[in-house]
Amino acid sequence: MAGLHVRSVLVTGANRGIGLGFVQHFLRMPNPPQWIFAGCRDPKGQRELQNLASKHPNIIIIPLEVSDPASIKAAAAKVGEHLGGSGLNLLINNAGILKAKSLDNEVLQDMTETYTTNTVGPMLMGQAFLPLLKKAAQGSPGSGLSCSKAAIVNISSIGGSIASAFGWELMQVTSYRCSKAALNMLSKCQSLAYKEHGILCVALHPGWVQTDMGIPCLAPLVQGMLKVLSSLSEKDTGAYLDWEGNVIPW
Ligand code: NDP
Repeated sequence: MAGLHVRSVLVTGANRGIGLGFVQHFLRMPNPPQWIFAGCRDPKGQRELQNLASKHPNIIIIPLEVSDPASIKAAAAKVGEHLGGSGLNLLINNAGILKAKSLDNEVLQDMTETYTTNTVGPMLMGQAFLPLLKKAAQGSPGSGLSCSKAAIVNISSIGGSIASAFGWELMQVTSYRCSKAALNMLSKCQSLAYKEHGILCVALHPGWVQTDMGIPCLAPLVQGMLKVLSSLSEKDTGAYLDWEGNVIPW
């Protein structure tokens, strides 16, 4: 991971699954970040994350419910306090939910809840952390965009790709797919709006892994994503990529 040098990163949904995988991989980097902000909605109940944080003082657990604007605002203030005068290099919007239901049985509540968490949450996160991301961009040398400088990474899914909807009729996850298609559009909008501030934005499909949504195959996927992030530059902002760096059709 020679190409990714972040001083600070925030991962949402960091208490389990892919989010926890990110935290573990950041710790194993040759130059680990000075600050790894691990967002989770119930910090007290998270033994694995608490254990890691007790051994690694660079992990700061931040209470964070991404569907609650007040929680996001409080998290941004807390992260800002820890960072002192410096900015946040990398925001990984990883938290997400999936509710399985056939199209016939889909309901307003699941559609709304999934959209709120998977799409609106990352948008509010981008807004709230913009000042810190801008600060990181301003404080980093070099003119081009990169994930080491300042970036928003939205963890999407190939399930949000309208163009590659292969075999998905078997998967009863309409609300999830709609929310991820919308997250892809959000990523594009963020890339257009935040480019002038020096912030790179991408939507990233992490690959398939049996989390709560098997940990055995998680490591190569997280490693793959970090490798992809380390390789991104100005030309990639607004892209929709998978964990191997392949462009996914919208
Ligand atoms: P998990 O279900 O294992 O973990 C989801 C994480 O998101 C948990 O930490 C959960 O917290 C958190 N979360 C959910 N809702 C909220 C909320 N409102 N506020 C804050 N945190 C929240 O999922 P994965 O690790 O598998 O998935 C991570 C991301 O990757 C998701 O965005 C998912 O859509 C995407 N993805 C995953 C794939 C896979 O194969 N696993 C494939 C494609 C995409 P809590 O413990 O409190 O519930």
